[in-house]
Amino acid sequence: MEKRRYILPKDSLEKERMYMLERGLRPSYRRAVVLHYMRGNRSHPTVDDIYTDLRDKLPSLSRTTVYNVLSFFVSHGVLKELITDEGKARYDFVEKPHAHFRCLECGKIYDIFVDEKLFDVNEIDGHQITDIQIYFTGVCKECLAKKQKKAGNG
Ligand SMILES: [Zn+2]
Ligand SMILES: [Zn+2]
Repeated sequence: MEKRRYILPKDSLEKERMYMLERGLRPSYRRAVVLHYMRGNRSHPTVDDIYTDLRDKLPSLSRTTVYNVLSFFVSHGVLKELITDEGKARYDFVEKPHAHFRCLECGKIYDIFVDEKLFDVNEIDGHQITDIQIYFTGVCKECLAKKQKKAGNG
């Protein structure tokens, strides 16, 4: 049996190609792979996370390539780069504008759906707005539940 090197179902790649063409972006194999990955991974991965997950499947991939592909999508508004207080850039597939909540205990980043009008601003007090990031921190409900359990058990 022939060993298959590739992971993506062909129609998924085709879907990503169409998505890029519709937005006037030149599709490439790597771009399609990264886009497909980002669409399926809404955990706000870092460049390293993405590189680690994809390098087995795409041996020719380098960290720089991943970074360049991400930057390309960010500059065209397909992905958003999140700046978090941990100082690492994280990437997000933009379907609907949303805010983020980062748990200070487990580090998980949750999508928070706030009024979309908050993102629909291009000028405030004469300042031109080019990016809007709404970002909350605290303790997530999962960590709170764990704490409560612990406290309850004594
Ligand atoms: Zn947590
Ligand atoms: Zn998000």
